[in-house]
Amino acid sequence: MKIIDNVFVVPGVVANIYILADDDGLTLIDAGLPRSEKKILAYVASLGKSASDVKRILLTHSDLDHVGALAALQKASGARTYASQIEADAIAAGKPSRQINPSGFSLRRILFTVMGPFFKATPVQVDEILGGDQILPVLGGLRVVETPGHTPGHISLFAPALGVLFCGDSMVTDENGIRGSRPGVTWDEARARESVQKQAELGASIVCSGHGPVVKDAAGKFPL
Ligand SMILES: [Zn+2]
Repeated sequence: MKIIDNVFVVPGVVANIYILADDDGLTLIDAGLPRSEKKILAYVASLGKSASDVKRILLTHSDLDHVGALAALQKASGARTYASQIEADAIAAGKPSRQINPSGFSLRRILFTVMGPFFKATPVQVDEILGGDQILPVLGGLRVVETPGHTPGHISLFAPALGVLFCGDSMVTDENGIRGSRPGVTWDEARARESVQKQAELGASIVCSGHGPVVKDAAGKFPL
């Protein structure tokens, strides 16, 4: 589904996967649950591109629903992979970067507990470590924004030229707007709030989250 020119979201997958189109190829943000590579590559094909056009895969964090198909996608495309050091270490170990709060209640957590044995991410050695305010040559300059809280090494990505913020799970969206990371799956709630504040100050007009609809006219909708 097209969001704006050169920015797409893969339909019909559990966690949102965004596709950014540049002259030199495609960049994916996040990689979905295990076994979602077929749907992702079918959507790439519907854009008139092939797997080998995917040049970069950026991971916001190492949760299974964001890195599950990474190994398969990397193999099919030969894309370079990118994450923060903390999340890259977790991806290389094939496990999440933090324990899910055992006292927290969430449907997702229960689902993961029940389904965990069936879903496991294949470990991947991430090619490039992202951090600071690094700028990637994507969408006219895609800025890495460190947004710890949901996980310790979570990053978001901001395209100032387009006013688009890809916030991973640092915030979730629904029909009512934008919310913080869900309590039951948040590593550090105070840092998660700081990360929301930091992102609210970027001046993004479009927010693309890991779960939920794209929010347009985002100014004033941040959960401060
Ligand atoms: Zn997550």
